[in-house]
Amino acid sequence: MAEGFSGKCLCGAVHYESSVDPQFIGQCHCIDCRKTSGTDHATHIAIPEDAFTVTGTLKFFDHPANSGNIVGRGFCPECGAPIYSRNSAMKGLVFVRASSLDDLEIAKPQVIVFASRAPSWRHLDPELPAYAEMPEKMPKAVSKPASS
Ligand SMILES: [Zn+2]
Ligand SMILES: [Zn+2]
Repeated sequence: MAEGFSGKCLCGAVHYESSVDPQFIGQCHCIDCRKTSGTDHATHIAIPEDAFTVTGTLKFFDHPANSGNIVGRGFCPECGAPIYSRNSAMKGLVFVRASSLDDLEIAKPQVIVFASRAPSWRHLDPELPAYAEMPEKMPKAVSKPASS
């Protein structure tokens, strides 16, 4: 199968392509992800910004994360679907929302962050490394080796 993936918003005004496979996939239970998700968490797919091409216009909502870094959350201004976010401390990367993917099968999380904020009814995969909050640095073991 060719490398890369694609996705779109609910109305179709925004669509995108990535020329690379997901580099890192995290499931986040922070309050900001919850507030913008429709449920208790969001799943983010990290890829290099230069591998990512968006068609259509996004609106960005910038909000400070726990760390104080500014997270800009891009969504379709027509239908409100979250598409991707940027983090002021992680320049050069974009974090694509799993909900926007054409093929959700590629978005199996590798790590859980802000697990302490997950509700008691959320089953967290015991196979995955889970952090109470955001770790300073992601352990190497969970970083997917670059396929190239
Ligand atoms: Zn839309
Ligand atoms: Zn979050």
